Amino acid sequence: MIESGTLFIVATPIGNLEDITHRALRTLKEVDLVAAEDTRHSQKLLQHYSISTRLISLHDHNEIQRSKQLIEKLNQGERIALISDAGTPLISDPGYGFVNQCRLAGINVVPLPGPCAAITALCAAGLATDKFKFEGFLPVKTMAKQQTLQKLLTETMTTVFYESPRRVVDTIKQTIAELGPQREMVIAKELTKTFETFYSGTAEACLDWLEADVNHQRGEFVLMVAGEKPSQTDVSSEALNLLKLLMNELPLKKAAAVTAEQYGLKKNKLYQLGLDL
Ligand code: SAM
Repeated sequence: MIESGTLFIVATPIGNLEDITHRALRTLKEVDLVAAEDTRHSQKLLQHYSISTRLISLHDHNEIQRSKQLIEKLNQGERIALISDAGTPLISDPGYGFVNQCRLAGINVVPLPGPCAAITALCAAGLATDKFKFEGFLPVKTMAKQQTLQKLLTETMTTVFYESPRRVVDTIKQTIAELGPQREMVIAKELTKTFETFYSGTAEACLDWLEADVNHQRGEFVLMVAGEKPSQTDVSSEALNLLKLLMNELPLKKAAAVTAEQYGLKKNKLYQLGLDL
């Protein structure tokens, strides 16, 4: 039997209903209450597994007020599970404020790991996974989106985004504008579902693939942008030596700028090379 007065953060499937753990199902059965983003949506999941636990809504618009009510219940010893529409709660989903308040109130919070679209996409994309950056959804406004993408110019880690089907073409166009057509990317769509697809190629090739067929633009998307690989071979040994020499005397930004000027190279590339050195 599970401990009283505990909040369980329960990951649920992102498509394929078989992707749910034994522990998650047992917990959803045994708790007193399941807090869900959209109760009608989650009711279907519970019904599929013949779980009759009561559902209560917790979404972006009622999180503050609902958290207070649920914390009272937890303090009275009730056991509550938090789920979202799909995947891991709090990952581009509601629940942060609630969990934060529970921790501050000294309530036991127990995570039950399971599906997450970002990790599911990353582990099969064939891009570097030793370090990666998760950006969630890109900003919708053009300027803010540009600024976020510009930061990837010198980013050496793989970056993972969530994107809606309505914006995916525009986002890849902006990626090409900010990072160039040759940056490597992977599009992962409809993960764990019938039409699961991975498409890898340059940003330009990704755009061509999306535009080749409107069906390619439908569904749920995870976009991954490969890290920039500064190759020392593009930079002559003279330039490299100057950079090293200047780095002893100047801040890296300045050293990179002077070397770039001297040898007609890109500042950003030299800056990244300096960091690697
Ligand atoms: N909490 C979820 C998780 O753990 O991945 C993410 C919720 S977020 C509101 C929804 C976004 O996740 C979608 O717009 C899409 O970008 C991504 N996503 C969710 N399920 C997916 C799937 N089956 N295939 C591809 N992307 C998915």
